[in-house]
Amino acid sequence: SKSSGRNCFTIYDKAMSAELEARSTLEGDLRDAIARCQLEVHYQPFVDALSGTRRGFEALVRWRHPTRGLIAPDQFIPLAEETGLIVPLGEFVLRRACADAAGWPSDLAVAVNLSPIQFKEAELFEMISAALADSGLPPQRLEIEITESVLLERGVENHAFMERLKSIGIALALDDFGTGYSSLSYLTAFPFDKIKIDKSFIRNLTHQPRSSAIISSIVTLARGLDMSVTAEGVETREEYERLKALGVNFAQGYLFGRPQPIERILFDAPAKSSQ
Ligand code: C2E
Ligand code: CA
Ligand code: CA
Ligand code: CA
Repeated sequence: SKSSGRNCFTIYDKAMSAELEARSTLEGDLRDAIARCQLEVHYQPFVDALSGTRRGFEALVRWRHPTRGLIAPDQFIPLAEETGLIVPLGEFVLRRACADAAGWPSDLAVAVNLSPIQFKEAELFEMISAALADSGLPPQRLEIEITESVLLERGVENHAFMERLKSIGIALALDDFGTGYSSLSYLTAFPFDKIKIDKSFIRNLTHQPRSSAIISSIVTLARGLDMSVTAEGVETREEYERLKALGVNFAQGYLFGRPQPIERILFDAPAKSSQ
């Protein structure tokens, strides 16, 4: 859309000078996609679990390939991470998300995923501050989602970096909780505001009593640490009711809306229950 073109090219130039080796077709395509603004950011709502009120949107990248159609991030994020293209890609998504969110009602937040590879960039804090300043989005409306791998490597540096983000008002969420190796001590050691329980736990919720027990203990733990809990991948009303009873604070999933292009998000209408 209107303002994205210039940013795409600026970011691309920086990455291009750094990378001059021969590349695979897909990598070349992805490189072109960034340069030609074929990447799109879609938005999926998350709601306050008790009231069902929309609280914000998670930004999720898609690649509109000229011949292959819309490509899901699982098919190109790993490649982008291997090649370093995640850096310009991630900057594009963050800038787009901040610019879009700046036009939303002021009670809505935007959540952006950051790759562990981006955490290694020396200028990451400056990039994020610049994206906020350029868009006019108050930092209090930005949430950064990171996975636990960021905590395992370079823990001390990343901890300091996270404190820096928090000091300007950005909220931090631990994504995909329960899928990796995190021990509970990570939760106490890092300054998260939110824990996002991975959708695999929600999927089993209505069949396996153990999933309820796990979610319930995550909720108790989070309360003790003054963190809130989001349930991801909520697809049915049954799951939603169960999660509410278990005390989760926020819910996200197809039940409340699929990721959609910005044009399809209507702010004067109540949240749709499904797309
Ligand atoms: P994620 O951060 O865990 O995002 C949630 C994923 O679950 C999204 O997949 C979303 O479409 C999907 N989802 C949401 N609700 C439901 C549901 O009710 N049922 C099911 N089955 N799935 C649901 P998506 O968009 O394909 O993204 C996949 C992953 O790609 C994301 O997982 C995230 O790790 C990564 N990703 C997406 N956009 C970005 C980005 O801009 N930067 C980075 N670094 N990673 C991104
Ligand atoms: Ca996420
Ligand atoms: Ca997740
Ligand atoms: Ca994920």
